Amino acid sequence: MKINSPESLKNLVRDVPDFPKKGIVFKDITPILKDPEALQFAVEELAEVLRPARPDQVAGIESRGFIFSPILAYKLKAGFVPIRKKGKLPAKTIRASYTLEYGQAELEIHEDAIFKGMRVAVVDDLLATGGTAQAAIRLVEKLGGEVVAVAFLVELGFLKGREKLSGHNVFSLIQY
Ligand code: AMP
Repeated sequence: MKINSPESLKNLVRDVPDFPKKGIVFKDITPILKDPEALQFAVEELAEVLRPARPDQVAGIESRGFIFSPILAYKLKAGFVPIRKKGKLPAKTIRASYTLEYGQAELEIHEDAIFKGMRVAVVDDLLATGGTAQAAIRLVEKLGGEVVAVAFLVELGFLKGREKLSGHNVFSLIQY
């Protein structure tokens, strides 16, 4: 099948019920990643939407945000900055906590990763409730970065995560 539209890309996303726990339908993007045409299409589309925002840095969110963000940084001639779960980054960090379905989690960024006034695109694989992306945005802004775009491959629109990111330029390629 020719992959030349978001709809054809969407057909490749695999629903995995009850993963990682009962009641969650996990959107598995690995069928997109292993298909050369689909991977190319997804990267080109995300790059084109981010390009006008002219990011200096692409900040990717661990773990699956790390798949697309460095490719996009390379294509846009920007740098790549990792935003990781607590305790993973080696140098001095700042931290933001956010709410998960059960309890709290924390994200960190190196405090010298972003300078004041830098244009930053935040990238993750999927937007669900928006808590993760919101925490990532807070970290970038705390360091004085300007979040010029927030991009996802997949958006679960029914969870209204976009509302949490209001005021930002939010883009997704595939919506449910
Ligand atoms: P949230 O903070 O609710 O927007 O959750 C977004 C984060 O959790 C992203 O990093 C996603 O990779 C992951 N995630 C949440 N729900 C799903 C899902 N149904 N399928 C795949 N990943 C998900």
